[in-house]
Amino acid sequence: MHRQPSRDREHIPCSNRRLYGTDEFFAVTVMQSGNRGFRFNLRHDILKIAMATEKTFYLETFGCQMNAHDSEKVIGTLQQQGYRQVESEEDAGLILYNTCSIRDKAEQKVFNRLNDYKKLHKAGKRFGVLGCVAQQEGGKIFERAPYVSLVSGSASYRKLPEMLARLESGETRITGLDDRQTDETFETEFTARQNPYRGYITIIEGCDKFCSYCVVPYTRGKERSRSSSSVLAEARRIADMGYTEIQLLGQNVNSYRDAEGKSSFAELLASVGQVPGIRRVRFTTSHPRDFTRDIVEAIDAVPTLCDHVHLPVQSGSSRVLKLMAREYTREWYLERISWIKAARRPISLSTDIIVGFPGETPDDFIETMDLLAEVEYDCVFGFKYSARPNTPALTMIDSISEAEKSHRLQVLLDRQREIQRVNYSKHLGQIIEVMVEGMNPARGQVAGRSSQNKPVNFTCAQPIAPAPGSYAQVRITGAFPNSLVGEAV
Ligand code: SF4
Repeated sequence: MHRQPSRDREHIPCSNRRLYGTDEFFAVTVMQSGNRGFRFNLRHDILKIAMATEKTFYLETFGCQMNAHDSEKVIGTLQQQGYRQVESEEDAGLILYNTCSIRDKAEQKVFNRLNDYKKLHKAGKRFGVLGCVAQQEGGKIFERAPYVSLVSGSASYRKLPEMLARLESGETRITGLDDRQTDETFETEFTARQNPYRGYITIIEGCDKFCSYCVVPYTRGKERSRSSSSVLAEARRIADMGYTEIQLLGQNVNSYRDAEGKSSFAELLASVGQVPGIRRVRFTTSHPRDFTRDIVEAIDAVPTLCDHVHLPVQSGSSRVLKLMAREYTREWYLERISWIKAARRPISLSTDIIVGFPGETPDDFIETMDLLAEVEYDCVFGFKYSARPNTPALTMIDSISEAEKSHRLQVLLDRQREIQRVNYSKHLGQIIEVMVEGMNPARGQVAGRSSQNKPVNFTCAQPIAPAPGSYAQVRITGAFPNSLVGEAV
């Protein structure tokens, strides 16, 4: 590690000279030559060399919460290997992009970014591409961006220390791409948690569903679950760190199969909710095929489990669901919704919908619109279908024009906005517990979230803003389609 030079050391009398390290050694040696100007320049150069050899990295994350949490684990691993995280590409020796390939746009962003920073490579910086684009494109990345030295998919992150050592020894073509059939998960006690109020825990990695439009099974590999003991140990560690909210993560979180065979997903959920100090537990993303009634029963029984289920439907048409290989029908999905709506607690529902999937007719789209009206979600993430490499849907005839896809998406989002306007206004006058996430200085409001995952912005009489992760009781005085407004009581 580089030591800061000190004035005192520069004036050590010759008789008391001791060697304090490399920079001191050279300073003393040159002083004997009597050339003080040279001494200064050499010392300055040595400092520059020392700074250049300090191991620094910059990491930018694209995509979902799984990627954000993977980055926390990558950061922890790098720090463990002696690297220091910096805030900009310019300050870093190693520049890493943790990428997402779920949509074409996200992928293009990474390559644009790599092109933008060509000149940084000339300055001796090293580049690495991690995540789904790395896994999907593999060695082709070296052709598109020849100055990239490291390409690794998420299933190979366990080998990061080894790959970093190879990078440091000067290798320029390092890949971690062949581990998708592994049974191991990427667990690290060195996770550097970046979110100030929510602790993420990955409980299952990969996906075995192979929906016809999705790259995830190809980029993240087969499903592999952690043991419930290891998940609970991490939950306790997070609680000890002071976090009160935990989010369990998985591409298909409720397909969880305890590696020790002790707990079902619902049982694990309940156990995490009972860890002392934990006040909120969320989980995402659920697959309707694996959504069981005991998950609703757990939410009813354990108060710390949040009043929210994200259950992606993707289409309201059973015909399109079959083309998508989603392994459920509209009726199957609506049965699960009826369980959730019959819960004793008011469970909020959100979903993902793809419009313009190859072969989606106007009648199929109307079925999706009908489902929207029937379920009355509190939030919908709507997307236009985007063809992805290596997926079966790529071979289907995509005859729906971009204009028509955009039109369907707009119709869907407009309708959903009206549904949310009604849903959110039902909270007027209620007092809701809100966990603080930050401040909105422009509005002078505290920003937070309800157990139902609804954004709540509120004012409070205290002169000092409440800290992220603290809780407030808020009376709701205003409602918009995407947020609530109130005042702390
Ligand atoms: S369930 Fe389907 S959409 Fe979700 S990650 Fe797996 S393959 Fe992709």
